Parts: sequence; structure tokens; C-alpha cells
Amino acid sequence: MAAVEPPTLAQAGKGGLKRGEHRQQREADPGAPLHFPDHGNEADVRGVLYASQGRVCGFCGSLLPQNDRGDVEHYRPKNSVKSGARIEAPNGGYWWLAYELGNYLLSCSRCNRTLKRTKFPLRDEARRLRYDTRKDLAAEDPVLAHPAWEDLEDWVIADLENGILEPAPGLDAEQRRRVEAIGEFFRWNRDGLLVQDRRRVISEALRYVEDGREDAVRVMASRHSRHSLLVVQRLKQYNREELIPSADEERQSMAIEVLAELEIEPGEEERLWVLRTLWELSGAAVRGWLEQRWEEAGCRVEVEKLRF
Ligand SMILES: [Zn+2]
Repeated sequence: MAAVEPPTLAQAGKGGLKRGEHRQQREADPGAPLHFPDHGNEADVRGVLYASQGRVCGFCGSLLPQNDRGDVEHYRPKNSVKSGARIEAPNGGYWWLAYELGNYLLSCSRCNRTLKRTKFPLRDEARRLRYDTRKDLAAEDPVLAHPAWEDLEDWVIADLENGILEPAPGLDAEQRRRVEAIGEFFRWNRDGLLVQDRRRVISEALRYVEDGREDAVRVMASRHSRHSLLVVQRLKQYNREELIPSADEERQSMAIEVLAELEIEPGEEERLWVLRTLWELSGAAVRGWLEQRWEEAGCRVEVEKLRF
């Protein structure tokens, strides 16, 4: 997750103020009804998420389609929580995490609206966190691993022939169980289109390696490209680690994509926030490069106006 906080979620931002208001309401009356304005969808929040995740679903690794720019999904549901057959009352959810960046993931509509919805299963319902036990996140033991927090990249390997994802060898039983659970939940290996898409990515990357199209391979191996984990694993297997991009190279290729989109839709705020976030997270060389690029693209004033 990015080490920047979008202004909307800072203490004085709309989300931060709402967070404080909710806390006061609930501390005065634990049953107080809460309302959740959609501050997670503000341009700065989405921009920060795009910059760290790419336009890729956090749960299944698919590319978010152009006409569906992805849902800002709450990993721990903010409102009601469904766990197995049991549905808790509204506002029984993790309301105090409604405006926390760390609880957000960009997700495709299949994973968010069809599969996950308000589900957040635990192995032991008795351990579900409440506001007063909220600090003890580790004790909750959720069934679904968090894709950004738990290094799923090290936990999952792809069968490079058939595109099937499996727990990596060397995991302990607990890690293995969690990988299997998240894979089953999001139908990683049971959705034919998803498996086919992974196979397509593997064979395309392989073709590019054979044709010596190294720049294209590096983009495919970047975190913000779909199913990039598979490409990275393939490159390691072939001892072609030099084609795996550094974090700053990943940011550069993402910026190139976003600048090209801004040529079509100048001034689009979410994209400007992506550039600003990439700048914020990058080393000096990429920062200088970015400044030059947004000057050339004619969006310098707009990007530099944005402040964390
Ligand atoms: Zn998805």
C-alpha cells in the first residue's frame, strides 16, 4: 500500500472528519445509526489506489475494463457483515475502518459485487473484532488473506502450463489454508475466462521474450499489469531476472500509460492524482523525469496544484 494519505482521508479531509464524527456518535451511543458518504470514491483516493495497484483487480489480478473503472472495495465491510448464513444488523460492521486507506482495494465488479459483497468470513465468529477490541487485528484470523498486506506474491505460484494458481511450496499449513481459501472464494481456478486470461498472458510474455521485445516484457512484469505475478515467476524460472522492473521502473511505465490517457482526456482529476502519487513515491531520477513529462503534456499547473 502506498505510503501517502489522500487529503480526503486525512484528519481534516471529508473522510477524516466523518471518521471523527462516527467515533463521537458511537461513543455517545453504541447503537447510533451511521451514514457513510462515498468519500472513498473521491479522485484523490482513487488516484492513490491506482498509483499503487495499477488498473488491476486486487482479488483476481484481472485488468479493470475501460468502461468499469473499478470499485473501491472495503476489505473489512464498513456496514453490515455477512458471515456464513449469519447476517449481522446494519452498522454491525467495521464502521471505524470506513475511511481508512489500508482497508481499501480496487476491485473488479465480479469480485466485489458478485463474490465478496459484504462477506468477511472468520474461522471463529467469536473472535470478530469490535470497536473496543479493534487494535488487536491479528487476533481476528480472517479467512480471506489481504492481497496487499500478506505478500500473496510469495504465497502463490502459477502452473505455467495451464494457468492454475496454487499455494507455493514451503508455506506452513496456516498460510496454505489461507491461500486456498482466498482462491476458492474468488474462484481463481474455477472461472474459465480468468484461467484463459492467465494462459494468454503467459504465452504473450513468452513470445515477447523470444522476440527480444524487452520493454514490452518489463511492462507485463510490472505490478500494475494484469496477472504480472505469472510473468515475474516465468522470468525467474528462465533466469531472466534482469527483465523484472524495479519499483521506480514500474512507476515510470504506469506514468506513461496515464499521460497517454490524459492526452485524450486532459485535466481528468483522478489521473492527475495518479501522477502526483507516483511522483511522491518515486526516487529523484523518476521525479525529475515525471516533472519533465507533465510539463510536455501541458498538465504541470494542474498536477503541482495537488498536495498531500
Ligand atoms: Zn476481480
